[in-house]
Amino acid sequence: SGDGATGDGGGNPRTVSASDAEEVDVTTLPIPEQRRRLPVYAARSEVLSAVRENAVVVVVGETGSGKTTQIAQYLYEDGWTAVTAAAGGGGRRRGGGDGTGAAGTAAAAAGDVGPASKQHDHLLIGITQPRRVAAVSVAARVAEEMSTPLGGTVGYAIRFEERTSPGTALKFMTDGILLRESVSDPDLSAYAVVIMDEAHERSLATDVLFGVLRRALAARADLRVIITSATLEAGKFATFFGGAPVLRIPGRSFPVDIFHARTPAGDYVDAAVWQALQVHLQAPLPGDILIFLTGAEDVEVACDELRTRLERLDTAPPAVVLPVYAALPAEAQARIFAPPPPGTRRLIVATNIAETSLTLNGVVYVIDSGYCKLKAHSARLGMDALLLCPTSQSSADQRAGRAGRTAPGKAYRLYTQAAYEDEMLPAAVPEIQRTNLSHVVLLLLSLGVDDVLSFPLLDPPRKEDVAGALWSLWSLRAVSDAGRLTARGRLLSSFPLEPAAAAVLVAAADLGCADEALTVVAMLSVPSVFLRPHGREAPADAARARFAVPDSDHLTLLHVYDRWRAAGGDRGWAADHYLNERGLRKAADVRSQLADVYRAAGLPAGRPASAAAGAMGDPSGRLRRAVAAAYFGNAARVVGRGRYVHMRTGVECGLHPSSALVAAAAVADYVVFHELVWTSREWMSVVSEVEGGWLAEVAPELYEVRTARGVRPLAVGGGRGVVAPPRAAPPAPARVEEAGRGG
Ligand code: ADP
Ligand code: MG
Repeated sequence: SGDGATGDGGGNPRTVSASDAEEVDVTTLPIPEQRRRLPVYAARSEVLSAVRENAVVVVVGETGSGKTTQIAQYLYEDGWTAVTAAAGGGGRRRGGGDGTGAAGTAAAAAGDVGPASKQHDHLLIGITQPRRVAAVSVAARVAEEMSTPLGGTVGYAIRFEERTSPGTALKFMTDGILLRESVSDPDLSAYAVVIMDEAHERSLATDVLFGVLRRALAARADLRVIITSATLEAGKFATFFGGAPVLRIPGRSFPVDIFHARTPAGDYVDAAVWQALQVHLQAPLPGDILIFLTGAEDVEVACDELRTRLERLDTAPPAVVLPVYAALPAEAQARIFAPPPPGTRRLIVATNIAETSLTLNGVVYVIDSGYCKLKAHSARLGMDALLLCPTSQSSADQRAGRAGRTAPGKAYRLYTQAAYEDEMLPAAVPEIQRTNLSHVVLLLLSLGVDDVLSFPLLDPPRKEDVAGALWSLWSLRAVSDAGRLTARGRLLSSFPLEPAAAAVLVAAADLGCADEALTVVAMLSVPSVFLRPHGREAPADAARARFAVPDSDHLTLLHVYDRWRAAGGDRGWAADHYLNERGLRKAADVRSQLADVYRAAGLPAGRPASAAAGAMGDPSGRLRRAVAAAYFGNAARVVGRGRYVHMRTGVECGLHPSSALVAAAAVADYVVFHELVWTSREWMSVVSEVEGGWLAEVAPELYEVRTARGVRPLAVGGGRGVVAPPRAAPPAPARVEEAGRGG
């Protein structure tokens, strides 16, 4: 598969000599000196005066120019977080430096800005990132640059994890966190400046925040917004904010020779490994290799393969192989910023996280698989799935650009030039146009936006996606027939969870299994705790099988968690059982946060004394029922040994090989699943057996019981294309076989 990416395309490839590269390794310089050498430093005063004079500024610059780590510090140094008591009614005012800038004047002219009830002794500079890892890693770096402990002046907040204190002034966070904050504080009154970083990623939360910020800006003359972008979407962002100025940070990048494959690669992981070894053996040092694959799985496979092959090559120069992906533990992430031992080449295998979010120094060679994984709505399945997609041209260019940051570089594309030109979209489709919107629609409704289609957005979502989201919220009773938020909808939106996951907790409250449901939802909110190390798959699978609860992966997760708790902090226990101790601790932490929200929402604690709940079955039945009450849209019916079809679309989906139901001899007639994963085909992941009758009971608009042959869907593809008010055009339900199963 590998003879592709050589030779053609680049004319006369240059070899990198020491004189081409920077004379010094910047990472060895003192931090103030490193900061001064960043391209953004030359634009410091320009950035500051632009922010003083304009409510919104768009900043464009190459990856690595210092946008993320520096701009917030400049604003802090310029006094943007201070509150001056002299300001008019609101008790707050802001202006750059001495406060005589236009911001100060504008604020004074506006008189009372911000709700008078909210007094702050200082304001925040908020920096949003589409990726959790980036938020944490960049906060750590900025804290280091400012010589303060992380969580002090510089802090971060990502879902289920916050490190801030009352003294925090620079708050790095995911865009999702700021969006949630805006629900209780639509004017974002705690913030002097919001920096929307990596806006070109066009995450769902970023796109909605654009609208939120536009409304907040209209209400607050003192608010400042900076939008940073690595690409040329800048003009579009500027237009959205009524013609904001675009500031370009002069780049400092070196030429990159691009080589395309002559023929498409068969297996892109094999091809990438082969190409990386060629480069490693032939290209002079220094110069790290950065390989772009698609997800944690193929990154780990490629790393294993590279390590194995490198061991067999005794003539190869010394090399370290480093994986980089979002779910990587913190220490492993820290290693990617540590300089390698001298004379060693780093082979960095990454997901698209290394495209623009994280800047890796020392990369001279890039190998691009041309693929990424995207969460996208699959029309065939009627739901979201992680799909393997070709990257966009703009991603491909970003990836190639990573090779030219510190010296002239080379990029090897494992796809043909024709594929680049003809098959790749110029830019990725924004998330708002490709995924399930129910979470966002619920947030917008709780922000008081009743007509989602009239909310200001850069690119409107598809009407049918909005309708589908409203419909699924309606089926969870989160919106009324008239499309308005219900009390239950408000309750669901108070959890930092997808609406369906929150609905499991609310259903569990009624069923008297809240303790168990909190654990299960927490376990589903962290990456899988089951370890399956390369070369030890068999004992790992056996260890996992010992936890299996035959009719339910949800209960299996509960069982694992309870056993771990019972082992009482015995450090070796988790490892002995092929479980990730860190993941379990994280689940415990998430669980306690969810329990806090649960209590604050006034939901009943503990078990209800009511006989009714007891009559609803054993604890296992109650928990599976709670899951069915929320995930009834993900119901499948058996059609043969181990073969299931999704009830509403008729699409065949298999039990994921890791499911406890695979090993169990009994065949479940009906199951609900947490999510679909897609590899070579559709797999249901985290599955529980349910009774058909439960489905018809919780979602009568979707399923009906046909006494003779069970439950059936009332319509195929239900839920999509229905416009609010949902009752006006109910989708046809699906039928569940019930008691009469045998005959
Ligand atoms: P931009 O946002 O413009 O892409 P950054 O501000 O992220 O640029 O990066 C500026 C510099 O800081 C780069 O040289 C990068 O390698 C370095 N840097 C960023 N994060 C870290 C970190 N966690 N550790 C060490 N260096 C870092
Ligand atoms: Mg950045």
